[in-house]
Amino acid sequence: MEPEVLVVGAGPGGCATGRALAEAGLRVTVVEEHQRGHHKACGEGVLATTFKSQGFEPGAPYVMGAVDRFSVTVHGSCVYDRRYPDVLGYTVDRSLFDAHMAHEAEAAGAKVEFGTSAGGFTATDGVINRIALRSSSGSTRTVRPKIVVGADGVASRVGRTAGLAGPLPPSDLAICVQTVVHGPVDEGHSRIVLGDFAPGGYAWSFARGPRCANVGVGVDTENARDLRGYLDAFLGSQDDLSACTKDELRFLPVPCGGLVPRLTGGNTVLVGDAARQNDPVSAGGILQAVDAGRMAAGTIVNAVSAEDLGLLEEYDRVWRKAHGGRYSFSMRLNKAVRRLPLRLLAPAAKAAFSMVKGDVFAIGHDDEERMSNALGRLG
Ligand SMILES: Cc1cc2nc3c(=O)[nH]c(=O)nc-3n(C[C@H](O)[C@H](O)[C@H](O)COP(=O)(O)OP(=O)(O)OC[C@H]3O[C@@H](n4cnc5c(N)ncnc54)[C@H](O)[C@@H]3O)c2cc1C
Repeated sequence: MEPEVLVVGAGPGGCATGRALAEAGLRVTVVEEHQRGHHKACGEGVLATTFKSQGFEPGAPYVMGAVDRFSVTVHGSCVYDRRYPDVLGYTVDRSLFDAHMAHEAEAAGAKVEFGTSAGGFTATDGVINRIALRSSSGSTRTVRPKIVVGADGVASRVGRTAGLAGPLPPSDLAICVQTVVHGPVDEGHSRIVLGDFAPGGYAWSFARGPRCANVGVGVDTENARDLRGYLDAFLGSQDDLSACTKDELRFLPVPCGGLVPRLTGGNTVLVGDAARQNDPVSAGGILQAVDAGRMAAGTIVNAVSAEDLGLLEEYDRVWRKAHGGRYSFSMRLNKAVRRLPLRLLAPAAKAAFSMVKGDVFAIGHDDEERMSNALGRLG
């Protein structure tokens, strides 16, 4: 039977949308071009407060490690280092986490088809009215869903077909290399390091349990040629990581240029990286995609029951009301940091961190104002 809603992409955003739609009784199919359990490049870090408030369990099998120390170093100068009395964050195994999300969607009644790629989109006046689904066995079928959810990641074909997202210019992308290292890593310590080995971006090491860390480097597209070299330079610069062995390297871009102008249009809704809802400073987007998917599902249910596609616009309004303020702040920070000359980066970061009264992961509106002003003065 034809799905009422087709969700393209079974990452966290697509699965969260599919699950919420199925729970509301809609006929929903989620298609994913990769096979179940596909490995995705990711830092795998999530904040404990958001993770728990979204209903995820710290004891779940996909949680690999807990983080209780966070530091930021800029050009060799430590600008922030804090040990937390409680757990600050977790590292999740992305393959297991995404598989869990897909399983939850299936348990709610969504059909999740792995190894199925959506293509051959036909749209009239921004309404996608035909989609070809090609399975890994080579068979193709056409579907005509009432509503299409683009949860298809950074290069969203759904977004481009619906006229919601243009192709990303290189300046709006960071290119990342990521791996997992094993050895004498500083347990529980997650760190961000800015310096010569991460031009236009940052290097990270996120604690992933005992003797294990998720590490990577993201750089601007102009510097993407020697990502392996940057990663090795970063690992060599860290006492505990230099002695570690690496798993295979994974490469993937992240969007860093800001939100798409509209989250909905015609019969289409964009969720997660497809809408570029990931944080413009950290680039983190796992839980952002989950949250957006659930919000989108709420408005889709209303639109289907009222048979009024115009109601989909409510998702745009609801998302901006919940996240627009913080997103704009992160975007201002992103732009200020990119404008700063390198020699001012460390003092600027120090000044910005010193403006935060409490924890940098729970900053309030006053902190935002002070940080924006500090960066503005230094820039
Ligand atoms: C190197 C790196 C490190 C990161 N580190 C972190 C981190 O530490 N913490 C964090 O929160 N976020 C991190 N992110 C960001 C995070 O991975 C994304 O924000 C998150 O995956 C977004 O989820 P999504 O569901 O929107 O998209 P995705 O997870 O990208 O899922 C989109 C899915 O759509 C599928 N797809 C695409 N086109 C089609 C098609 N035509 N047909 C069928 N399927 C299709 C893809 O195969 C993919 O599985 C990182 C990203 C990168 C690249």
